[in-house]
Amino acid sequence: MKAARLYKFNEPLQIEEVAPREVKGGEVLVKVTGAYVCASDLDIISGHIPEVKLPLTLGHNNAGYVEQVGQDVPDFKRGDAVAVFGGWGCGSCRFCRQGEEQLCSLTRWVGFGVDGGYAEYLHVPSYRHLIKLNKLEPVDAAPLLDAGLTPYRAVKLTLPHLYPGSVAVIIGVGHIGYFAVQIMRAISPGAKIIAVDVVDERLKLASQLGADWVIDGRGKAADEIKRITGGEGVQAVIDTVGSAATLPLAATAVGRKAIIMVLGLAGGTLPYSFLALPFECVLTNSVWGSYNELEEVLALAAMGKIKMHVQRFPLKDINEVFSRLRKGQIEGQAVITP
Ligand SMILES: [Zn+2]
Ligand SMILES: [Zn+2]
Repeated sequence: MKAARLYKFNEPLQIEEVAPREVKGGEVLVKVTGAYVCASDLDIISGHIPEVKLPLTLGHNNAGYVEQVGQDVPDFKRGDAVAVFGGWGCGSCRFCRQGEEQLCSLTRWVGFGVDGGYAEYLHVPSYRHLIKLNKLEPVDAAPLLDAGLTPYRAVKLTLPHLYPGSVAVIIGVGHIGYFAVQIMRAISPGAKIIAVDVVDERLKLASQLGADWVIDGRGKAADEIKRITGGEGVQAVIDTVGSAATLPLAATAVGRKAIIMVLGLAGGTLPYSFLALPFECVLTNSVWGSYNELEEVLALAAMGKIKMHVQRFPLKDINEVFSRLRKGQIEGQAVITP
């Protein structure tokens, strides 16, 4: 089978013939028909993710059809449309037993630690990482496996702080923010949404996706947010950027008993002390999402409450897709269709 493999950091992936591994026990071979190209692939290629060992087939957002199952696999058969949950935990620690395999200290991330889905076939070590797709096409499900799942978990964790008429801010309407706005709209208990960005097209997009207000981050965003909330501040901020500019904005935007959810890895910091934030404000982050949360976000999309905007590319164009992603020239979500 063909696979796109990284041999050296900062070099193009090489497309080459690789023999698929034998399938036994509870293992499943998936014919990949949709692999979403995530911006974190660029961090792998540039060597910014320390655990990555080369050579490696990239691709951590994979969906397709079951090709072959091991003798111990119940429930799945050849031809089933499936999405692959990407955090392959040990299965037996406290976090894995709670269904939070993405928090397992032994998690092997597909496409980071083990060979991923920029390939014709993906070897999945256990059927427990698969979710059957009923209404969604694998190619449409692929962007949800990370860019949808990560904000889904984040939005869910903000829900106890929200109530009808409260206001939530989403900073950054990029790959994650695109879904964060839609998910907040779909599952919050009637909260109003402010979206902040510094790119005109993204601000326009945020309104189309359901934001009640859009604020240009190049202006006085904190003042605007205070004005909208009558001086109180918002009940939740999801910062999908995490920069030296956005984190202070998050800190000034929140009110009492609010929550700041940091998702972005842009390297900013926020000083913290008893008086740094309004009383009983929570400052936290959230990591990817669980298997169950992935099922939930896929269900939301199957109900039509989250829209994808997929652009398809063949495997041979993978390096071209990365270079367009670097230049911000991908509209919507790029999905490789090997
Ligand atoms: Zn990703
Ligand atoms: Zn574990």
